[in-house]
Amino acid sequence: MSEDTKKVGIYTTTYKVRFYINEMEYLKLSQKIYNDLIEKYYELIFKYKNVLNLSNQKCLRELEKLTIIGITGKIPIEYFNQNAPTELRRAAINQAIGLARSYTEIKKISETNSKIMPPSKSKHFNCSMTLYKGMYRNIKEDGSVEIKLFDGEKWKWYKAKFKNWHFPESAQIMSPTLVINKNYVMAHIPMKRTIEDVTPIKIRMKQENVKICGIAFSNTDKVAICVVIDKNKNFIKSLFVNGGNEYKHQITKIVNKRKKNIMENKNIQVTKRNHKTYRDKENRIIKYYAHVISKKIVNFCILNEVNVISMPLSTKDEAYYYVKSKKNRPIYLRENITNDVIYKAYRKGILTTVVKRKDKASKCYKCGGKIKSRQLKTVCENGHKLDYYFNYAMNVALDCIVKYDKT
Ligand SMILES: [Zn+2]
Repeated sequence: MSEDTKKVGIYTTTYKVRFYINEMEYLKLSQKIYNDLIEKYYELIFKYKNVLNLSNQKCLRELEKLTIIGITGKIPIEYFNQNAPTELRRAAINQAIGLARSYTEIKKISETNSKIMPPSKSKHFNCSMTLYKGMYRNIKEDGSVEIKLFDGEKWKWYKAKFKNWHFPESAQIMSPTLVINKNYVMAHIPMKRTIEDVTPIKIRMKQENVKICGIAFSNTDKVAICVVIDKNKNFIKSLFVNGGNEYKHQITKIVNKRKKNIMENKNIQVTKRNHKTYRDKENRIIKYYAHVISKKIVNFCILNEVNVISMPLSTKDEAYYYVKSKKNRPIYLRENITNDVIYKAYRKGILTTVVKRKDKASKCYKCGGKIKSRQLKTVCENGHKLDYYFNYAMNVALDCIVKYDKT
């Protein structure tokens, strides 16, 4: 894709890392002040309800005008003594606005929908502190950082540390939130990155050098089948991603253990607890294989300069089939792989579209004739010799061209 047609986009991901601070009591004290501010502003928002009609930024300014002494020195109508840095106040106001908005939205829905309980207004808050710029500084390569805390008298800078910190390449660090647990603290750090290209698919498909990757899924060891074609429907390259058998082996072990646990254990509490452990393990296995396989697919697409990925969409009947389908079948990974591919590709500037799955596997990509059997090596009614899944993936890719030819 030529440079001038590229449109840059952004995406944000949140990293969660352990956070070390010696002055735990100061952190808790600061969080208390933060929540007191939220409470105060939350009440004010409902006293001056019209502020919610404004954008978040204007709403914040309005609330500050009501409570903070401005340059004129005049004491505002809702003035109250605040012992907090501006950045902490602003984070608190934004939090209060967010909470007030969700309250009013749910309330509105509950008025028309009897199934939704009307919400009750919050009175006490226990929100985790979000540190805006000015509340933290000097993040270093080793994860050390300084944050502003209240020691009972003053706000001062204190040294702290993010554990397992990797300084993000080409990412912008956004305001971290400190989540205090019983005996440890987690930092949730949003990172903003740019995406090289977010040109819409419609426009991409009109480009002469566009490359499309069609993906099909199977219930065999080769769980995903990818083919790359160009705009003139010429085949460029294919990739058969295996891992289906390995997944099947790993997941079956856990599923069987879980079943055995139910049969053998008489103690319901213990069974329940074990059950959850097994379920978590199963989910980790599913996530792991979806991650590995989707990564292979996306890397293959990058290598072949693919611009658009085409994937088969489940119809309603198929959705039912997936609910019913067993975890220990490789095809079960399909949904997770699909989701992973979409966001991983997006980060690399590759967009994904879906095409209807109907007929994709049952017709010959060369002539449109019916396929005689569902065997791996098959043949169409007009005598074309085909690989069942390759043919399937080709149809998924070709259908993407058809889909955008119409528009
Ligand atoms: Zn044929």
